[in-house]
Amino acid sequence: MSGEEAINQLLGSLTYEAERGALSLSTARYVMLSPALFVELQKRVEAHLPQQVANIMTETAEGDGAFLASRYRDVFGYPPEQVLTAVSYMLSESGWGAMSVEMAHFEGEELVFKVLDSPFAEVYGPSIQPICYTLLGVLRGVAMTLFDKPAEGGEVQCAAKGDDCCRFVVSSKPGG
Ligand SMILES: [Zn+2]
Repeated sequence: MSGEEAINQLLGSLTYEAERGALSLSTARYVMLSPALFVELQKRVEAHLPQQVANIMTETAEGDGAFLASRYRDVFGYPPEQVLTAVSYMLSESGWGAMSVEMAHFEGEELVFKVLDSPFAEVYGPSIQPICYTLLGVLRGVAMTLFDKPAEGGEVQCAAKGDDCCRFVVSSKPGG
């Protein structure tokens, strides 16, 4: 499972203030967390609220995806294609798996992302259903920003299910 080491631009851009114990990317604070912490939280929510866990985790992450995409669009002035590339690059560099955009259909308002080596799937272990709710939520948030409408969609393949990658199809909600 060992791959080639590469230079990580994100890590190079983080600033560290030792006296505050603060990692930041421009003005946004960052923390390093193990994916096991997220997955443990997910499993505990799942134990208490098995019907709601997917929505809770997905909706929680939507805001982050929407914020990230709107920053690239509004602050950096990127066109939609470049927003998607930048989001994929940023998430990959954040250690969320190797993300790529498989399809972007802007008129039909549908996006397909592929993620190899999702840390969430790796830590979660075998599952009969897709479990990368946090990734799904971030990508729905990206779709919300780009299409300027509520978004829907799901993880149609997941490494936790034994698929060779995680694949996400997100779109604007009809009538939304
Ligand atoms: Zn997955």
